[in-house]
Amino acid sequence: MENNQSTRFPLLRASWGAVVDFLFPRCCPLCKKRLATGAPICEACQAKMSPLPVDHCSICALPYAREAGLSSRCQECLTDVPAFERLYATGLFEGPLMEAVYRFKYEGGVSLDRPLAELMVDCLPKDMAERIDALVPVPLESSRLKSRLYNQSDLLARHLSRTLQIPVLRCLERKAGGRPQQGLTRKERIANVKKAFSCSQPVNHARLLLVDDVCTTGATLRCCADQLKQAGAQSLEAVVLARADRRLSPQQEVQR
Ligand SMILES: [Zn+2]
Ligand SMILES: [Zn+2]
Repeated sequence: MENNQSTRFPLLRASWGAVVDFLFPRCCPLCKKRLATGAPICEACQAKMSPLPVDHCSICALPYAREAGLSSRCQECLTDVPAFERLYATGLFEGPLMEAVYRFKYEGGVSLDRPLAELMVDCLPKDMAERIDALVPVPLESSRLKSRLYNQSDLLARHLSRTLQIPVLRCLERKAGGRPQQGLTRKERIANVKKAFSCSQPVNHARLLLVDDVCTTGATLRCCADQLKQAGAQSLEAVVLARADRRLSPQQEVQR
């Protein structure tokens, strides 16, 4: 669980943050223009981001064309209800948001953690802090963590933790040996992650928010939620930066 000085003294952290912002004015992490407001990303870049369409699945946030009067759940969530109740996403996995995720994950863009986490907070309900007990980042396989040096989902969870004043619970483990998700079909992806995760401790009666960077097929979040439910979680929700449309282009395939 996170319990550092900054979470114990939020006012001290806030005033220190203001001093740092004054001395080193923040720039838009995507276009490098100076930010006039406290927004995480400049207005021009935000305008180019694609929000989730109004018609999206009420559980997994998958965009789909819904006909009037029909269910608000996508076909998959109707036939195979996930263990999480709802997925929140900042926007669609395309344009500047996709570019930001790639830089954050693969090009050492660690400094993107703060602005991207701030975008994430904006897509969560205002009462999120009262609704959950802990944030659970989706883990990386240890060999991948060694080569990348950081887990992007963990960095996002740390920032969410500071903002929402909710601890991070690193109770999920990812087993070695699975094939990379990139390039696999939807069916292969689901089979590949099915046994990839385990929960290292009981989470009895906890209300948890899973944190990941991108949701493509939803297989990873489904698998993590299953494990947390089996470990005793009372309720589960999830948040990602970007939700991929089902009609994935090869460019949108994400390697974990
Ligand atoms: Zn910008
Ligand atoms: Zn769905």
